[in-house]
Amino acid sequence: MKIGAVAAKTDPGRKRRGNEDAFVCRPPLFAIADGMGGAQAGEVASALAVEPLNETRVDGGGERRLAELIQEANRRVHDRASTDAATSGMGTTITVALVEPDGHIAFGHVGDSRAYRLRGDVLEQVTNDHSLVAELVRRGELSPAEAEVHPQRSVITRALGTDPDIDVDTFTVDAQAGDIYLICSDGLSDMVDHGTLESILRDNRSNLDDAAKALVQAANRAGGEDNITAVLFEIAEGEGSQEPDERTAEQITMEAQSVHVDDEDTLHPEDNVQLPPREDTMVVPASEIAAAMPPPEGEEYEAGAAHKALALLVILALLALIVVLIWWGLAR
Ligand code: MN
Repeated sequence: MKIGAVAAKTDPGRKRRGNEDAFVCRPPLFAIADGMGGAQAGEVASALAVEPLNETRVDGGGERRLAELIQEANRRVHDRASTDAATSGMGTTITVALVEPDGHIAFGHVGDSRAYRLRGDVLEQVTNDHSLVAELVRRGELSPAEAEVHPQRSVITRALGTDPDIDVDTFTVDAQAGDIYLICSDGLSDMVDHGTLESILRDNRSNLDDAAKALVQAANRAGGEDNITAVLFEIAEGEGSQEPDERTAEQITMEAQSVHVDDEDTLHPEDNVQLPPREDTMVVPASEIAAAMPPPEGEEYEAGAAHKALALLVILALLALIVVLIWWGLAR
């Protein structure tokens, strides 16, 4: 098995002036970082986070190597955020995939950027989001459908840069020839539903450049509320590490950023799916979720009912006491 076609596309979307997403498409290493922070700080955070991935050629080393690289990325973002007031509070997600020489794929992941795998005709999300809504879904407090439109769906529970140490999720999957992997920022996964992602990848599996372009277009047609980035790679049959691609990593990166305007990119009002507004991305550690969330209405009502029941009980007890006192007084 070897790496087949690769592709990348990034776009600021329709609502944001800058692009705070950064990506790496440097086979056998692929990554996305989605920065956040005021002014241009998000851009600084995501750029710093992918630096360690671009500096050295990474050729294996698995989950351990990815965890080291992500820890290094975290140190750089955190160091800058704590010494440069203009970037204070910035952070970034990161999702990295490394295709190993033995055909396994190692993943390292922090935040709500995602990795998916199309195997056969079925698309599966392989990363778990570190987000408030994903946490609530895992706890059974929210349905996946409710999570998709929740106003706090941009609140993430882990990000690079906010602490000197970061808890990195790593895992390894078995690759099969024909698999297509997609790594993307929430500007894609938040705007385009799972079924649409799946059919776009199925329809364009023979040309990943077209697939990446179609994904960005779908996100823009749905409103393009956020920066959109998609990195794709395919696992192919055969020996060797990678199918020849005459483009260098630098060329792929340049092409990914070239803004392509044609009438298909024009926003049609009928395509514009109106999602409920969402708040800006912020980080709330999973341990503080209960404190950050307003109590659900049901619980508030129950708490109120309990108070009323207690008050009623006290009144009844006082009335009973008065009756007993009167009876006692009369009996004398
Ligand atoms: Mn984003």
